[in-house]
Amino acid sequence: MKDTKTVATFCGVCEHSCGMRVTARGNEILEIKGMKEHPSSKGYLCPKGLAAGDIMNAPDRLRTPLKKDGAEWKEISWDEAIGLCAEGLGSIKDRYGPEGLFIYHGQSYLKLRLAYFLMKRFLNLYGAVNLASAGSECFISTMLAHFATFGNLPFPDYEHSRCIILWGSNPCACGGIGKSYPQMAELLKNRKNNGAKIIVIDPRRSASAELADIVLKPRPGTDGALALGFVRSILDRQLEDRDYIEKHTAGFDELKAMIAEYPLERVEQITGIGKDRIAEAARLFVETRPGCIKVGSGLEHHTNGVQSIRATNILLAITGNIDVPGGNTFLAMSQLSPAEVDFSQQSSPLGEKEHPMFTGMVHQAQALAALDHMDSDDPYPVRGMMVAGGSPLAVLADAEKVQRVMDKMEFTVVIDQFMTQTARNADLVLPAATFLERDEISINPIMLQQKVVDPDGVWPDARIWLELARAMGYGEHYPWNTLDEIMEHMLEPTGYSLHQVRSAEGGIVIRQEVGKILQEGFYTYTGKIDLFSKSLESTGYDPLPRFDEPAESPVSRPDVAGEFPLVLTTGARYPVFVHSQHRTVESLCKRFPEPVMEIHPDSARECGVQDGDEVIVSSPRGSVRIKAVCTSGILPGVVHLPHGWQEANCNLLTDNSARDPISGFPGLKSSLCKVAKA
Ligand code: SF4
Repeated sequence: MKDTKTVATFCGVCEHSCGMRVTARGNEILEIKGMKEHPSSKGYLCPKGLAAGDIMNAPDRLRTPLKKDGAEWKEISWDEAIGLCAEGLGSIKDRYGPEGLFIYHGQSYLKLRLAYFLMKRFLNLYGAVNLASAGSECFISTMLAHFATFGNLPFPDYEHSRCIILWGSNPCACGGIGKSYPQMAELLKNRKNNGAKIIVIDPRRSASAELADIVLKPRPGTDGALALGFVRSILDRQLEDRDYIEKHTAGFDELKAMIAEYPLERVEQITGIGKDRIAEAARLFVETRPGCIKVGSGLEHHTNGVQSIRATNILLAITGNIDVPGGNTFLAMSQLSPAEVDFSQQSSPLGEKEHPMFTGMVHQAQALAALDHMDSDDPYPVRGMMVAGGSPLAVLADAEKVQRVMDKMEFTVVIDQFMTQTARNADLVLPAATFLERDEISINPIMLQQKVVDPDGVWPDARIWLELARAMGYGEHYPWNTLDEIMEHMLEPTGYSLHQVRSAEGGIVIRQEVGKILQEGFYTYTGKIDLFSKSLESTGYDPLPRFDEPAESPVSRPDVAGEFPLVLTTGARYPVFVHSQHRTVESLCKRFPEPVMEIHPDSARECGVQDGDEVIVSSPRGSVRIKAVCTSGILPGVVHLPHGWQEANCNLLTDNSARDPISGFPGLKSSLCKVAKA
């Protein structure tokens, strides 16, 4: 068709970066199709990716910079906006020092490598140390556990696996690494049709459970004990892979001594799952090799998450399922040029004292701990805030505390595509481009996201950070004329030029040979899989994953459970939303038009509640009003609230002061609440 063009790019709606071809005429999106030759997404797209044009053209999309003027918003030019931003940040630095600025970026920035590079360089030149992110509640807990055990990040090799454990994870709703959820659902169905076994472990019946051979529903926050039960059952029956353990692991004797503390009767008492069921699942996993485990946020969002994931790591290791086809295998990681101009750290980020392994791993502040410090002005006042591509008020635990901290700010800037709950608290809102309106760069595969349409009034995040740096007087540290030149510089360590990356439509894949780490050794303290982790021990943590009760459970806090007898679990993933986004995109939200609380019919009856009733859910922190849905899919005694809804913000109920000692993650999926008819 005349004047139409088709652009090869990758989807930027979520972190999976599926390859796509977008056809447009002028600024009108005509068609979005999956890219078959993309190495991981293989032509699949989910409804969110297919709705990228609707997201870009949503009626409430921000189109111009906004300045708060009393209770009103005033539209201003980009020149004025960048000038005001530079002036406000300069003033914060003059009055409070560079540590007086707190910066938070959302999950989207993990895939905006160009914007991330420019943001990091800007913050380095400013001297800001308090950069935090959505990683304070997501994924870093898994990284910490995996690095303590394997020195690297292994992922499930579903395609070659004969037994797949989905543990606190629902890939049929949220996808897998580089794969959309329809693709994951298809893949799991294919594996099952080819004889693979699937075990789903989740207190709530998910879409993935429909495919399972065995479904186990532990009490929320007891997954670590359950994993130790699997290990105990395997060791008791001498089903472990002795040869693999001898060659590739360290600390087996210490592990065996610790496992003696976990007879299956005790595990049954902790988890609520019968010991025969645990033994049956453990036998299936060990006898149907190779097997892999996908852990999800269902394991991370507890105050004992890192050690629970460590226990699943050990289960993989003693069954010989690491770095073998069909087990959990490692990906090659490409590096881009570092952003920093000056690497001498001036002071420590907030949260380093409480969670040194977290801050050491990500070189960022721990947002939850930082909020406590900011709330009390200890050890110094923070009065400036920048938020980029995220909404801490919607997603961080204890929303009331987040609001209190935001209310203290003297200058707040938000960079976003929409007027979020967080943006409404800002002094200045800078409208950002969607992925269809910008160029970006990604790694694994190394690939370009290419602009399809010209941005209408909005700027790419990368340009915002670049212009801000120039306005602050840092221009000499940006010796490039265009964003293309910056991407060329960033690519240098990969050995590929921008032209080569642009020409490789499906991206450039760097493959890691399976078994290479088994041959060459692990990047751990001992060079082997650390069942006993010296890195944890040297930082003052338990080197073995003993089970600790969640900080607020009926067992650990019977005093609280008297008034709040139900276990609250929050934040299961929904296939059409990414956290708090897309609630105004009609084509997406029609499938899930309103937030609902899930409760077992028996528990509902005890609370005097019927299906469809409006209820008040309360915790020691606060309360929300929401519609109840009765379902036997959830464990009795447990209720689930979705996250990301402004009209029923589950984080008004969650706590951020009791955190996992290693990661700093809060107990988003294990705290206490009560339910009453509204
Ligand atoms: S899973 Fe969906 S939203 Fe995420 S990148 Fe792929 S198509 Fe886009």
